[in-house]
Amino acid sequence: MKRRNFITAVSLTSVGVFVAKIVGAKGDSIIESSPNLGKEPNKPIIISTWNHGLTANKVAWKRMLMGNSSLDAVEFGVRVTESDPDNRSVGLGGLPDRDGNVTLDACIMDHESNCGSVAYLQEIENPISVARKVMEDTPHVMMVGKGAQDFAIEKGFVKKNLLTPEAKEEWMKWKRHKNIATPTINNENHDTIGMLAMDEKGNISGACTTSGWAYKLPGRVGDSPIIGAGLFIDNEIGGACATGMGEAVIRIAGSHTVVELMRQGHKPEEACKLAVKRIQKKHKDLKNLQVGFIAMNKMGEVGGYSVYSGFNYALKDKKNDKMVDAKYDLEW
Ligand code: ASP
Repeated sequence: MKRRNFITAVSLTSVGVFVAKIVGAKGDSIIESSPNLGKEPNKPIIISTWNHGLTANKVAWKRMLMGNSSLDAVEFGVRVTESDPDNRSVGLGGLPDRDGNVTLDACIMDHESNCGSVAYLQEIENPISVARKVMEDTPHVMMVGKGAQDFAIEKGFVKKNLLTPEAKEEWMKWKRHKNIATPTINNENHDTIGMLAMDEKGNISGACTTSGWAYKLPGRVGDSPIIGAGLFIDNEIGGACATGMGEAVIRIAGSHTVVELMRQGHKPEEACKLAVKRIQKKHKDLKNLQVGFIAMNKMGEVGGYSVYSGFNYALKDKKNDKMVDAKYDLEW
């Protein structure tokens, strides 16, 4: 019997608690731990990174109550954060690059593994919606820079100055301190919103959007628009997204890694933790290297984990509307 058939057959028996170690066809050792057999998945459910996730989740939740898909929910959820001028790390009001240009990265992925992405996009307030257009209206996955902007305008998006006076003031203050050659990352200057949602049908989608590393070198693109790094969904298993130092996330294809760890039987928090450990193993210098992952599986179980303290995520389901402090390895 093939592994998948075997698992399905066992699921159908609803034996309560089932823990088995299965050696797959190619000799890979896969642990299937299914204490949830017979239980209904917890859905709908939404999680998103950082405090701004609370407001974004509310909007996403409303969408799902209106009968919209998880894809609509994540798009309209993170748009709220993108359009918030007081948020310094996403969309309008985001901190610029070294030269004062706000450049945005975003991607979106649905339950059928369709995906779309934009990077180094300027003067468009809602990059996540452009990413969705790339996904739905083109044969491509990723568009960048001027081409992405032209495409957005063709699709009816309007150009806008995204550098608010407050963000400009912060940038000018930074310039006066002459940190130009080595922009540093810290807990305040990089807070992507990544959102994962499962709707009533059990379909999982995700979105990820950011203005990236504040004062980055012009042209720098982080993990957030890269499918498999900043975000990954496989509706058979679940989804994950990342925040923090994008360079470190890209190095281990972070979100894809988390989903694959869940495929091997790990719960969401454990999968995030193992990915965080892998990042630590690959870097000699962990100074300022903050990365956090959040993940959701098909049972509607969720979790998060980060290198340093201080990472949290917003959870919304039928019972909860709250922030959860992620576990971590190092004190900030
Ligand atoms: N991951 C983002 C980037 O590297 C930053 C963040 O999460 O705030 O661009």
